[in-house]
Amino acid sequence: MKMFELLAEQDHEQVVFCQDREIGLKAIIAIHDTTLGPALGGTRMWNYQSTADALRDVLRLSRAMTYKAAAAGLNLGGGKAVIIGDPNKDKNEILFRAYGRFVEALGGHYITAEDVGTSVYDMEWIRMETQYVTGVLGPGGSGDPSPFTAYGVYHGMKASTKYKFGSDSLSNRTIAIQGAGHVASHLAEYLTKEGAKVYITDIYREKAEKVCDATGAIYVDPEAIYDVECDIFCPAALGGVINPRTIPRLKCSIVAGAANNQLEDEDRDSQLLAERDILYAPDYVINAGGLINVATELEGYNKERALRRVETIYNTLLNIYQKAEAENMLPLQAANRLAEERIAKVARIHRHYTGHPRIHRV
Ligand code: NAD
Repeated sequence: MKMFELLAEQDHEQVVFCQDREIGLKAIIAIHDTTLGPALGGTRMWNYQSTADALRDVLRLSRAMTYKAAAAGLNLGGGKAVIIGDPNKDKNEILFRAYGRFVEALGGHYITAEDVGTSVYDMEWIRMETQYVTGVLGPGGSGDPSPFTAYGVYHGMKASTKYKFGSDSLSNRTIAIQGAGHVASHLAEYLTKEGAKVYITDIYREKAEKVCDATGAIYVDPEAIYDVECDIFCPAALGGVINPRTIPRLKCSIVAGAANNQLEDEDRDSQLLAERDILYAPDYVINAGGLINVATELEGYNKERALRRVETIYNTLLNIYQKAEAENMLPLQAANRLAEERIAKVARIHRHYTGHPRIHRV
């Protein structure tokens, strides 16, 4: 494998392989860019078929975190880690503590959090060995990020509605939510409280019905969700659901949701949405509420402050739509450009010597 060529492709700064044969630890930490601050990103545990698959995944995910933090206005860089193993079988205290020591050895260059396959309990084990972990339980911890992600998506929907229809009221708007999990259940509450008509689905019907009972949302079958006549289609389950098979079926004006990697192919599918005059809220911008919340933990957690910062997603998205319009780009391209420009500009102001140690606020 041409390792340096691979890292150079997307300009990654550092990749750390962590190994303990006796304990069975195999992990990779990827740091993409620390121009804005320490690289923050979750630790994913997954049974990868090969080391090459794990490496590709961690490189892709860490780069995405750079863009996400930059667009969210945070002074954090992009990083991510993967532990190679089966999250249902291979988890134990010693594995996570061993991994925590590798994180500690990076001295704060990388800060971890939970991700697919890891939980807040695993973070507690990691915390036994390092201070560079967020999303922990107890005092100072920010807890479950999903209510904050939902709050951010709610404000992002309002911004998208404002741009598309001229008013940000969601009252009497119709919204179809795919997935009735952690984020969606909080989101449905915000939406129905404002008077929106919400349709919701889940492959586990009882999960969706629970949300319906709590909020007055209406249940639809999983396959029928794409066909619901609505103002906003909200992916809140899996990635890749916006693709050439589903886009022709959508009967919405806006796609705005919590799921990561909603577009199967970013260039192709953002173009296809634009051709159908459907406004796309770039997923990594609208779903940054959880990251913003966790970042707040680094400065001494305060829930009110976290909520106020999550609300900035509204203006960030409006800026993106306006930039896209002014510069004749798609919203996703405008979001990427905005993130890249912010990194370049912050790097520029940091050239100047101030005579004082650099103050770092996330
Ligand atoms: P979750 O696992 O609690 O909920 C996902 C739900 O989707 C589950 O109930 C699942 O049964 C359902 N589902 C799966 N496939 C489906 C399908 N084909 N049709 C309908 N329903 C289906 O996850 P979550 O924490 O609510 O996150 C939802 C999405 O948002 C994920 O893509 C996640 O990566 C993303 N996200 C979450 C957060 C967060 O703070 N939790 C932050 C950023 C992004």
